[in-house]
Formats: sequence, C-alpha cells, structure tokens
Amino acid sequence: MSVPESVESPQPVPLVYTDVTVVPEHERNELQKSISSLEGEVLELKSKLKSLDEKRKEVLNKIIDAKGSIRVFCRVRPFLLTERRPIREPVSFGSDNVVVRSAGVRKEFEFDKVFHQSATQEDVFGEVKPILRSALDGHNVCVLAYGQTGTGKTFTMDGTNEQPGLAPRAIKELFNEASMDHTHLVTFTMSMLEIYMGNLKDLLSARQSPRFNEASTKCNLNIQVDSKGSVEIEGLTEVEVPDFTKARWWYNKGRRVRSTSWTNVNEASSRSHCLTRITIFRRGDGVGSKTEVSKLWMIDLGGSERLLKTGAIGQTLDEGRAINLSLSSLGDVIAALRRKKGHVPYRNSKLTQILKDSLGTRSKVLMLVHISPRDEDVGETICSLSFTKRARAIESNRGLTEELRKLKEKKILELEEDLRDAQESCKKIITHLQEAECLLSENKKRLQTTHEKYEENIEEKVLSPLDHLNETDATPKSSDKLVKISKSSGYVPRFMTATVASRLRQTMSEKKINAKRSVAKTLTQFSTSQSLSLSDSRSRGLLRRSYTKPLQAAANIGTPETPKRDIKDPSSEKRVISDTPKSKMVTSSDPNVRAKLCYHRRRMSSLT
Ligand code: ADP
Ligand code: MG
Repeated sequence: MSVPESVESPQPVPLVYTDVTVVPEHERNELQKSISSLEGEVLELKSKLKSLDEKRKEVLNKIIDAKGSIRVFCRVRPFLLTERRPIREPVSFGSDNVVVRSAGVRKEFEFDKVFHQSATQEDVFGEVKPILRSALDGHNVCVLAYGQTGTGKTFTMDGTNEQPGLAPRAIKELFNEASMDHTHLVTFTMSMLEIYMGNLKDLLSARQSPRFNEASTKCNLNIQVDSKGSVEIEGLTEVEVPDFTKARWWYNKGRRVRSTSWTNVNEASSRSHCLTRITIFRRGDGVGSKTEVSKLWMIDLGGSERLLKTGAIGQTLDEGRAINLSLSSLGDVIAALRRKKGHVPYRNSKLTQILKDSLGTRSKVLMLVHISPRDEDVGETICSLSFTKRARAIESNRGLTEELRKLKEKKILELEEDLRDAQESCKKIITHLQEAECLLSENKKRLQTTHEKYEENIEEKVLSPLDHLNETDATPKSSDKLVKISKSSGYVPRFMTATVASRLRQTMSEKKINAKRSVAKTLTQFSTSQSLSLSDSRSRGLLRRSYTKPLQAAANIGTPETPKRDIKDPSSEKRVISDTPKSKMVTSSDPNVRAKLCYHRRRMSSLT
C-alpha cells in the first residue's frame, strides 16, 4: 500500500498546540449540568404538549359532533368519454344540495357536502381528513362508499396510480400524523376482507386460491363480540404495517386478490362489499400508560342498484337480495345504535354485525353517496339519494330552524378557531421540544466523546507501536484486508492504526451489528479497494441501509411476506444514523480521504 503524498512530506508540525485529548474537568461538569437541565425541560414540554393535545382532541370532537357524527356527502361522477352528454341534464347541484328532475317531477336532497363532477380526489380527501384525526384520538371511524355500480365508488376509495383515492391517502395521513405525535407511540395493523352473499373472505390471507370458488368462500372467520361490545373477526389476517410503503403494499395485495377472485368481474365483484380495516394502537410514553385501540374502516360497498331493472335471475337475484338487505339495513342499524335501543334490525347481516362497534354513538360515520349524471340512471339516482336521506335523518340536529342553524354555524366557527389555536400551540411546543431533544442528545454525545478522549489519552501513553500492531488483529472484519496489508509490510505507522476510541466504537458497533444480524456481511460486500470512511455521507447511507434492511428481514422471518410486529418509533431512523460508528479507519486510495490524514499529523510527529 502506498503511503499518501501528504503523509510522505508532512507539513511542519506546530511546536505549540493544544492537546485535544486533555479534557478540562469543568467542561465535563458543565455538560453534565446542561444535560440534567435539558432533561427537565424535555419532561416539562412533553407534559405541556400532552395537556394541549387533550384540549385539541376535545375541541375536534366537539366540532365533529356539531357538524354531525354521521356526515353524508354526495359525489357526482363526471360523464365518461364514451358517454353522450344529454342536452338537459337530469341532475343539478348546489354546494350542499342535489336536485333531480325526472318526468316533470322535481326532487331535492340535502347533504353535508356535494362534490361536483370537477371535484378532485384531493378535494374529497380534504373533507375526510378531520375524521382521521378523530380515529387517531381513539374513536372508531367508518367511511363508506355507497351507490349504483359504475358511479365511482371504487374510484373514490381506491383511485388510480395517478389519482390515488381515499384509502391510500388516509393511510399515508395516519402515518404522517403518527410521526408528529410526540406524546404517544402509535402503531398500525391492517386487515382486508370481502363480504359476498353473507360469506366472509380474508383478502390478506397467505393462502389465496386464484379464483373465487366454494373453497375460498368458506373461510374460517367468525364474528365475535366481547363483553365491552368490541367486535373482532376471529381468524382474520391482521398484518402489522410499520410504514406507509408496507401498508400500501398490503393494500394493493388485498385489492388484487379481490379483483382476481371473480370469474365474472362485472357481475360478482359489483355485488360484494370490500372492507379495509386499519387498527390504531396508541400508547402514551409515560410508565404504565394504557394502550388505546381504535379502528378505521374504509368500505367500498356493493352496487346499490335494484335488480329487477337488470332482469337478473336465479343465483344473481339471491346475491342481489343479500346485498340490498345489508345495505338497506345499514341506515336502520345506525339509527338503532344511536338511539341506544337494544333492538337492532337485520341482526344477521354480516356487514352490520362487523360494523356494530363502529357505527354507534362514540364513533364517526362518513357516508359518500355516488350518483351517475346519466338520464338512464335517474331511477337509481333517486333511490340512492332517498336512502341517504334516511341516514341523514338519524342525526337529531337535522331540520333545525334557520336561526338555530346560524347559531350552530357560528359555534362551529368558534370551535374551529379554538382548534387552530390549539394546533398552533402544539406545533410551537413540538419545535421547542425537538430543539431541546436535539441539544440534549448532542450534549450527551459530547460528554461521551470527552470521556473516550480522556481514556484514550491515558491508554496511548502506555501502548507501544507493537501493541498497536497486535491490537489491529482485533479490528472488525470490514477492515480485514487493510489490516493484512499493514501486517505484510511488517510495520504499521501509528496514523494508520485505529485509535483506542475508534476501536472501542467499532467493536461496540460490531456487537450491535451482529445482534441485528448480517450487517458485517453487507460490509464485506464493499470492494476492499473502496474507501470505508464512515464520515463520508455516501458510506453512511450504505450503512444506514445495511442496518435497517436486515432488521426488516429479521422481522419477516416466518411467512416470507408477512411483516411481523415492528413497533414504530418515529425517531428510529434518526437513532440509526447517530448510532453509525464514526470509525476513523481510512485507506489512502481515496483522494477525498487524504485531506483527513492531516488530522493525524500530530501522531506522525511522534514517530519521527
Ligand atoms: P363503481 O366502483 O361504483 O362501480 P368505478 O369506480 O369502477 O365505479 O367507476 C366507473 C368508471 O368511472 C371507472 O372507469 C372510473 O375510472 C370512472 N370514474 C368514476 N368516478 C370518476 C371521477 N370522479 N373522475 C373520473 N373518472 C371517474
Ligand atoms: Mg367498484
């Protein structure tokens, strides 16, 4: 190995210099003081944040309840390119009403919000977003897409790659919100199932038959209700989703299974309900905090069309009856649950059984009714709109006088102002908290480094160059070649051997690596001619990947595609970076590294 030029002709060594290894005692004391005061500050900020978050939660809940914990939106599908636009369109809209004209009869329907044909997926999501926050706050939430086949239910819920729908957006938002929650540890699991003719089908199950048939419908899924009224589906696959990418992967898998399981896509798939459940686990970071569990259901319901019109016969008619029964019962079930009356009609509908704990008083329901703009569909449009009129009538605050309505709107505006204030204050505290935590970790690191330098200083005084040579045997595998080359030359200049501190860091990091399995393997994959200066951001990136991937791989042991429990820690990425061993092991082959060798000048001087 050639010795770099800069080392062959070292620059003059200053005669007087400050020895960095001597750490003044008072500096360490100062650091310790600062650390304990910062720790106190962090605790105080966290408790402030917690009480502010409680306030925000309360205000948001009031707003949602004032607006109606069952909200009904209407979305009108635009004309498709293949459709002829009629001269007189049968459906016209305001911001919160829909008017249908048919055979000289005019019918008007009110909604909480109407999305016109030009409304984008973002527009729809914008109105759904607050309810997601509510799910994270511990409420069960149900978002249902209702309507005739071909009106855009799947487009709204699922969307396309270019225009993602509510479900992928909602999942992403949950991860976003969770990463900003500094007082709780939030984790998610996901399940997907399909209901067809009263049968449940697990869409995320590892064993999927390629086609929908008898065997696959007879899944061993049982709906259970515990003593607290919480519904669980025994036997349903529940996968842990540590991040959005994994969640999206599972979601796409479920959608694929749904779409490929039908022999006749138009007929059967339009008659089945597709349910996606995200279960949210939220635990406070204090000792002994309880875990709150809530569910977010996103449901693409089967087509609501009446079957007589399509002239369906035989089995299809039965299927249709099953679907219509569960749909028509939905409104009644919500009403019964809200009125807290014991009797729930159509108890045997699988859909309403599953959703029983997510439609009651503490839960938030959002129904998105989809209608067609076409003349031919007017009959179905009126049916869909009438159904939701019933769902809306459930809320006691419907039919208020104009005066009361205005008062309510004013109250909502005030509450929204309070919510903004609370959110703003939370944000400020979070920034403050992040700064304090950052400073705290920096100070802790500095204290650690000064301590290591102190130890190093003592050890360097007792070690001879030969000791260093012996010690290099213990350097990590990643630098094996480097060590071998050094040995063959019979002499290792001091500047090329690892310092005690860096060896210590490397050994420690290697222990971590071994524990996390196989990072050393990844490291050996580096070409030995490549520089392995870990202060280089490129190498750090590689290392970071090599740290995280085996972790995920290890988590996946078992079913190859099933991610196992991996508790989400938003700070883990940060922690991995700061854990990266800051080895000073260098080779001279990389010119970028040469400059760093000047740091070793002082040690070189001790060799000459
Ligand atoms: P459904 O699930 O109710 O049967 P789909 O979501 O499959 O209906 O929609 C039927 C067709 O209409 C699809 O081709 C879809 O892309 C299109 N479509 C529905 N809603 C919209 C919309 N808002 N904007 C653009 N295209 C839409
Ligand atoms: Mg559909």
